[in-house]
Amino acid sequence: MADIRLEGVGHSYDGGRTWAVKPMTWTWRSARAYALLGPSGCGKTTLLNIISGLITPTEGRVFFDDRDVTGVPTRGRDIAQVFQFPVLYEEMSVYDNLAFPLRNRKVPKQEVDRRVRQVSRLLGLDQVLGRRSRRLDAGRQQIVSLGRGLVRSQVAAVLLDEPLTVVDPALKWTLRSKLKEIHRETGHTLIYVTHDQTEALTFADEVVVLNEGAIVQAGEPSELFLSPAHEFVGHFIGSPGMNMLPAEVVGHVVRVGAAEVGTTKDDLPPGPVRIGVRPEFVRIAPAGTSPGVPARVTGIDRMGAYDLVHTLVGEHPVIAKTEAGSPYRPDAAEYLHFPAERTFLFRDQVRCGSL
Ligand code: ATP
Repeated sequence: MADIRLEGVGHSYDGGRTWAVKPMTWTWRSARAYALLGPSGCGKTTLLNIISGLITPTEGRVFFDDRDVTGVPTRGRDIAQVFQFPVLYEEMSVYDNLAFPLRNRKVPKQEVDRRVRQVSRLLGLDQVLGRRSRRLDAGRQQIVSLGRGLVRSQVAAVLLDEPLTVVDPALKWTLRSKLKEIHRETGHTLIYVTHDQTEALTFADEVVVLNEGAIVQAGEPSELFLSPAHEFVGHFIGSPGMNMLPAEVVGHVVRVGAAEVGTTKDDLPPGPVRIGVRPEFVRIAPAGTSPGVPARVTGIDRMGAYDLVHTLVGEHPVIAKTEAGSPYRPDAAEYLHFPAERTFLFRDQVRCGSL
């Protein structure tokens, strides 16, 4: 296993007019489980293919520890890959498919057997080891592909590109926790590409958020949720995402319209900012309580486990996530409170302070 270091790595498919991956310097640390999270078209697959060697970047150098592998093709990099759809030898048994990457590297027979049985037990494949792969449904075949990616213990990294797309939704939860368990045992460096925040947050030690070809923030799931450094992370992570409101900094006081929402300890130049606060932390209080922002309730979604109370502050929507069975009614006038430790200020989309 190795640290995977990208130095000024970028990629353009059109001769430098646009960047699928903007030049970046970044290290994937050995033995960590990463999720690479971002919307469709943000450059996730391109970045993964640069690491695997399927793509040679148009800018920068790729290092595995101190070895420059920029021009080295995939087969010279010792990478295991799992794609969105099953890649198997259909006429081979599940056992032989799982054993293939090990036999190919002349691993002793006993060790092959031990690893195949270990991985198949963890992935729930022990009952189908003798079956031909083509006799399994697509979801099961994909689990075998996952097993093939994870069976070798000595790899530089395991790269997984949306590996659970064809797997039954109910099974996904189980598989993600199995993946974690396998990761704990093997200590692989895992890079797991997904556009699904639940998948990323439940699986990874560290989530790397990519937008428009650039890393906007990386951190533990709780850090991205509680302390977004960029408006994009606020929107993209959370369900629903972070509320954003135009506001004004005057001295240390932060105002939304005529209402004071709090003070900031940060020395910010006066002027417009955007306030970001997650629905989970918005508190609703009776009208007139201070400091608070007047809001009108526009609707309530009763979600079962919780309620989403939709409000308007002036013309700006703000959602509060409350306990189920909340007493709020459409058209009621309420006051919203934004707790200091959970409310952030943004300028040019980047966090510049907090309440
Ligand atoms: P998705 O989740 O939809 O697969 P992604 O985040 O993996 O998206 P990429 O597939 O890396 O993103 O694409 C990044 C950008 O590069 C997109 O604008 C895409 O249209 C463009 N792109 C990707 N592959 C090629 C290619 N072979 N030729 C030209 N442009 C490409």
